[in-house]
Amino acid sequence: MGTRLVVALFGPSGAGKTTIARSLPLTVFDRDDPQWSAGETVFRQALKRLRFEPDAQAVAIRSGATSSARARAVTDMGATHAFLVIPSKDVCHYQAGHRRRQDVRTSHASIETWYAKFDHHDGCPMWPGSWEMAQHILSPIGYTQPRVRDERNKAGDPRGTRAWRRLREQVYAEETHCWKCCTYVDQTLPPRHPKSRTVDHLIPIAMGGAGVPPREQVRLACWSCNSRRGAGRAEPIKRESLSVMLDSI
Ligand SMILES: [Zn+2]
Repeated sequence: MGTRLVVALFGPSGAGKTTIARSLPLTVFDRDDPQWSAGETVFRQALKRLRFEPDAQAVAIRSGATSSARARAVTDMGATHAFLVIPSKDVCHYQAGHRRRQDVRTSHASIETWYAKFDHHDGCPMWPGSWEMAQHILSPIGYTQPRVRDERNKAGDPRGTRAWRRLREQVYAEETHCWKCCTYVDQTLPPRHPKSRTVDHLIPIAMGGAGVPPREQVRLACWSCNSRRGAGRAEPIKRESLSVMLDSI
């Protein structure tokens, strides 16, 4: 099994992404290639499949002008590396104008749009000039690192499997209150809201509760109670009472 390499190249039209991609020892995913003439959806689906390929060796060309667009693309394809290719706007216009393409005018407009939308909040690294150097630059912090489905199940973490999702739905259907703080859980609250619904493992995964647990080992918990308990502790943290401190003053 080779090392999984999925490189995402972001930049405006005419930036030279295709030239860079073709210089790499990887399979190129370029939306402009005739095999993707069926449209963006087909192309995107092919990229999403890359995420679950443990041996993927690919480079994908995307526009990705904003941090959020890049984060989405990187997550979708499970990219191991991401780079921005941004020459000056003039260079892009020049390159786009010298292409044998019918959509030259569209290209010029898209270059302008790209630069207008561009943000660098994610600190995505710039293409360093060679694959030799690029290989040592890991994708920026904040991006979801790829988790290949097979690896995940091998590690014993059941979340993500169909059986786990079924069990989770059963807990949501059968329980109404957080088993820790005993408050009613509003199941319509968005994920990560402190009072949103979660399923709590009575035996944490990190303590050997691997595989999909039986029904009696999982309970409904609010997000704050579940996250406070953490993976390694069986009991919630007990804080020192403030009244004790006040008494001693
Ligand atoms: Zn609670």
